[in-house]
Amino acid sequence: MLAIYVQGTEVHSLGAGQHAVVVLDQTPFYAESGGQVGDSGELRQDATVFAVHDTQKVQPQVFGHHGQLTSGSLAVGQTVSAAVHAARRAATVRNHSATHLLHKALREVLGSHVAQKGSLVDTEKTRFDFTHPNALTAREIAAVEALVNQEILANQATQARTMPLEQAKATGAMMLFGEKYADTVRVLQIGSSAELCGGTHVARTGDIGLFKITTETGVAAGIRRIEATTGLGALAYTQEVVAQLNSVAQALRAPQSEVAAKAGQLIDQLKAQEKELARLKSKLASNQGSDLAQQAVQVAGIQVLVAELPGADVPQLREAADKLRDTLGEAALVLAAVHEGKVSLIASVSKGLVARLKAGELVNHVAIQVGGKGAAAQTWLRLGARNQKILPLHWPALCLGCKPGSAALKPQKPFCRKIMNTPLNPDQEVDATGLNCPLPILKTKKALAGMQSGQILKVISTDSGSVRDFVLFAKQTGNELLEQSEAEGKFVFYMKRR
Ligand SMILES: [Zn+2]
Repeated sequence: MLAIYVQGTEVHSLGAGQHAVVVLDQTPFYAESGGQVGDSGELRQDATVFAVHDTQKVQPQVFGHHGQLTSGSLAVGQTVSAAVHAARRAATVRNHSATHLLHKALREVLGSHVAQKGSLVDTEKTRFDFTHPNALTAREIAAVEALVNQEILANQATQARTMPLEQAKATGAMMLFGEKYADTVRVLQIGSSAELCGGTHVARTGDIGLFKITTETGVAAGIRRIEATTGLGALAYTQEVVAQLNSVAQALRAPQSEVAAKAGQLIDQLKAQEKELARLKSKLASNQGSDLAQQAVQVAGIQVLVAELPGADVPQLREAADKLRDTLGEAALVLAAVHEGKVSLIASVSKGLVARLKAGELVNHVAIQVGGKGAAAQTWLRLGARNQKILPLHWPALCLGCKPGSAALKPQKPFCRKIMNTPLNPDQEVDATGLNCPLPILKTKKALAGMQSGQILKVISTDSGSVRDFVLFAKQTGNELLEQSEAEGKFVFYMKRR
C-alpha cells in the first residue's frame, strides 16, 4: 500500500466505513481509459476488506482504487491481495472486444467513412458513436450483426503487439483521428480488426459468445449511436424480446408467426368501425336535431334554440343546424358539442333576423362564455378543452347574453337592473322570482368583485318558467360555475371565485 487519500487529502491509515482512494505498488485492476470502465473488486488481508467500486488513473501510470473499507483497518505500507471482480471484468472485456469487431463490421457494411466518435464499454453493453449520415436500416443492422458473429465463430486468438507508432501506422491499424498517441503503441489484432488499443480483451473471439445490437439512434447531425450486448447479456436481451413477443401473441390470441398479420387485421377492423361510428353519430346528430326543434323558446320576440349535441363534431353540428333552420323557420340557434376534448360551437341566424343578430357575433360571444376566443365573422368555432362543464348549463340565457348592446335584448324589468348594479354579498340569496331578465349576471362582474376565494353566491329563482333566463356567467366574471341543482322548481346556482 503506497498511499491512501480521503477526499483528496493524503492520510496514513483508514478506519472501517471510510471511503478512500488507495494506491498500490502493483495492481491487476484496469483503470478507466479508452472507453472501458475501470475494474471493481476487493483488496484483502485477513479481516481487512476494502471494496473497490471503481479504478481511475491518478496519473498515467498511477491507478487509484476508489472504494470503502468495509472491515478491519488499513495503513500505508500494509500488504494486501488484490482481486478483480472476475465476472464483471469478463463481461466488460467481451463488450470491449466486440466494440473492435463492430467498428470493423460497420466500415465493411456502411463504408470507410465510418469513424469512431466515442465509445463506452461497461459490464452491460458497448456504446459506440460513429459518423454516418443516415439511420441504419434493419437490413444493415442484421448484416453488421452477422459479420461480428462470424468473427466470433471463427474463434481466432487475439494478438497484442507493442511497436513504434510509425510502424503501427504502416500496418494500417485503425487509429482515432486527432487522438494523441505515445511513441510506442499497442496494436490489438482481433479477428480481422487491427486497432490501437490499451484495453483488456478476450483471448479468442469465441469468448464473446454472442453479439446483439439492441438500439440504433442518432446523437447529433451525422453521428449515429449503436448499443450492443454480448455473452449472457445478449442471451438475456433476446430472451426478453421473445417474452415480449409471446405476451403480444397471447394478447392478440394468435401464434407468434402471425402476430404482425393479426395486428394489421385488427387495425383495419378498427378503422372500418371508426368510419361506421362516424356515420352513425352523424345520423344520430341529425335525428337529435329534429327533436330539438321543440325546445326552442321565445325570447324578446325571437325564436331561440340553444342546445348541446353530445359527441357531435363540426360537420355533424352543421348538418343538425341546417335541419333545425328548415324546421324552425325564423330563428336564432347555437349548437354546441364536446368532441375529442374540444368544444365546438355553431350559430345560425335566419335572414329575417340578421339586422338584429349576426351569427358570427353570436358564436363569438358564446365562445367567450365558455372560455374560448372569438374569431371574426365565423359562424362556427372549435375551441380548446377548457370550461367544457359549462356546456350543459342553461344555454338559452347564455345565448341571450350574446348581444348585450342590442335594444331588442335589453332587460326590461327594474329588478334586473337592480341585480346588475347592486354589489352582492357572499352567501346572499337573490330572489329572482318572476324574472324575465336575460342579462342579469352579465353585468355582475362588478357585483362579484368583492367576493373572496371560496365564498359562494346563491341566486335562486322559484319561477321555473323563467329560470332559463337566469344564469351566472362564470367565465364573464372570471369565476367558475361549480354546479347547479334543481329541486322543487327552485334553481340554485353556486358560483365560486377562482
Ligand atoms: Zn479498444
